[in-house]
Amino acid sequence: MGKTSYRITLIPGDGIGPEVIEATCRVLEATGVSFDWDVRHAGAAVAEREGTPLPDAVLDSIRANGVALKGPVTTPIGSGFRSVNVGIRKALDLYANVRPALALPGFPGAHPNVDLIVVRENTEGLYVGIEHEVIPDVAAEATRIITRRASERVVRYAFDYARRNGRHEVTAVHKANILKITDGLFLKVAREVAAAYPDIAYREMIIDAMCMQLVVQPEAYDVLVLTNLFGDIVSDLCAGLVGGLGVAPGANIGETLAVFEPVHGSAPDIAGKDIANPTATILTGALMLRHLGEREAAARVEAAVSAVAREGRITTADLRSSQPDARVVGTQAMADEIAQHLS
Ligand code: ATP
Repeated sequence: MGKTSYRITLIPGDGIGPEVIEATCRVLEATGVSFDWDVRHAGAAVAEREGTPLPDAVLDSIRANGVALKGPVTTPIGSGFRSVNVGIRKALDLYANVRPALALPGFPGAHPNVDLIVVRENTEGLYVGIEHEVIPDVAAEATRIITRRASERVVRYAFDYARRNGRHEVTAVHKANILKITDGLFLKVAREVAAAYPDIAYREMIIDAMCMQLVVQPEAYDVLVLTNLFGDIVSDLCAGLVGGLGVAPGANIGETLAVFEPVHGSAPDIAGKDIANPTATILTGALMLRHLGEREAAARVEAAVSAVAREGRITTADLRSSQPDARVVGTQAMADEIAQHLS
């Protein structure tokens, strides 16, 4: 029998997306795992050509393949089309956004023992896109939706993740002292779910205290579960603890579909220059390998990233200050070095 070839939807994205995706495919293919990339385009250029930044064909491809690897897609600020990233998560009901923050030796980070998993609710909260001007130029209003269903499944996902991955504790992060009704419901549901997992410890923390704790003693936390906007902000904070956006991977998980994408955006300021750090997307590729059941290949990719960082011979421009003796190389050269370090 021939080797399995995984058919994966590949969305290169905008800005630095195509560069970091190309670099990642190179590393993933070097593991020996076989891929059949189903390349689909989304974003600004597609919007000009097809009238929508997210054509149905992209969503259909993900539905058919079950798994996608995605580069960042630019979201216009203020006006223009709505976020493609949010659109994909909503259309495919990818309800949990999982962002690991693991301190690797060699990456800049004040806290060497950080090993956090941020689980962010991905479908509701302030991201429902219900906003309007109450009085033009004077007052505006946004709606925050919290439901029992979405809260329950994301908290359950956090506990199941903890169980599956040998983790010990889940912390529900909230602002129920002020948002008494919306976060009150989230917290009530979190407590109910926690009761069904007596083997996993459960804590609660108010979002502002959580931010301070994460800066002061991040190594004291394990799995965090948050509503959408708090999760967005806290996951960037956690990325900063372990080396920044250049090294932070992410995954969007639904009942049957999964879209893997780095935490960072399209970084138009550095696009097309071969200077973006591909590490975040390469580590995202490792998360995808693990999701596919290729645990050994996933561990090899993570070990190769770690080995290159630890050796400290080369670095990308974003991490130069933490590795002053390293030679600064471009996106593709960094990917080649990581591929060469695969065991
Ligand atoms: P978007 O509008 O798509 O969110 P953005 O530029 O506003 O894009 P990010 O791309 O998330 O937001 O990142 C902010 C900055 O961090 C970038 O402008 C860039 O300088 C830096 N950055 C992000 N990703 C990387 C990367 N992979 N390598 C190096 N620097 C990066």
